Amino acid sequence: MTCKNCLEKPVINLINNNIKLCKKHFNKYFEKKVFKTIKDYKLIGKNDKVAVGLSGGKFSLTLLSLLLKLKNKIKIFDLEAIAIDEGIKGYRDKTLDNAIKYCGENNVRLNIFSYKEEFGNTLDNFLKKSSMKACSMCGPFRRYLLNKKSKELGFTKLATGHNLDDEAQTIMMNYFRRNLETSARLGPITGILKDKRFIKRIKPLYFLTEKEIATYAFLNNLINEFSECPHSSDSYRGDVRDFLNKKHSIITSFIEILPLLKEHFKNTLELKNCKICDEPCSQEICQTCKIVEILKKR
Ligand code: SF4
Repeated sequence: MTCKNCLEKPVINLINNNIKLCKKHFNKYFEKKVFKTIKDYKLIGKNDKVAVGLSGGKFSLTLLSLLLKLKNKIKIFDLEAIAIDEGIKGYRDKTLDNAIKYCGENNVRLNIFSYKEEFGNTLDNFLKKSSMKACSMCGPFRRYLLNKKSKELGFTKLATGHNLDDEAQTIMMNYFRRNLETSARLGPITGILKDKRFIKRIKPLYFLTEKEIATYAFLNNLINEFSECPHSSDSYRGDVRDFLNKKHSIITSFIEILPLLKEHFKNTLELKNCKICDEPCSQEICQTCKIVEILKKR
């Protein structure tokens, strides 16, 4: 059995295209797909200052390595990394070490912020005094900090390692919750409204599967072991993930209706500023401040 394009041994079977590729041709396929997504969806422009949301796991390290390649090639944008330390012992400390090591070796400025400093405690400790599910607390906290700190540091785009699997899961979660409006914010570049209070999030790995990204990360020595957040299966997303197997058709049909969704919900959204922290939100008090208030009372 050989690679579709040469006589080398294949390293991956791309199920959706039914082709087998060797390391060299898989790398070529992978990088071409990422750069095409950036170009087709105009994810990065001249003079952008891009922050990669870096966890130190396979997705974000792959993303950073590719954006570095692009930056060195076209030299029209700035690139740094931003990491959030949630305080998940035995997990985040390890992936943060990977992030620090990679950025040190590749001369990338890494900005680190923690829940402990910003919200007063680690996620591990917050969970001890709350019955909330880990991701229901952690997700809003992390999105909040990434947006706030990216603004403060002057970034114009925040690049995340979200991929085809993540997006398919989110679309299905929103369908199950009958929440089409939230889906309108998705896509390779997020958001419905242009508003300077929100840093645009871009997802250059949007059309690649978790399997493809993990293969790329291993083949290119970006990681040498898998690590997963201990809370990742204890969430609604974890349940939805188990149901999904038709990822490509979900994303393909979603991309077709996405412009209509954005147009439809454009005028129904009213952005406010949180009465407590002044960050942008859709209600009087943002989700993060609500959680912080609950935690304070306990
Ligand atoms: Fe936070 Fe949940 Fe992600 Fe773990 S899986 S880092 S708890 S959002």
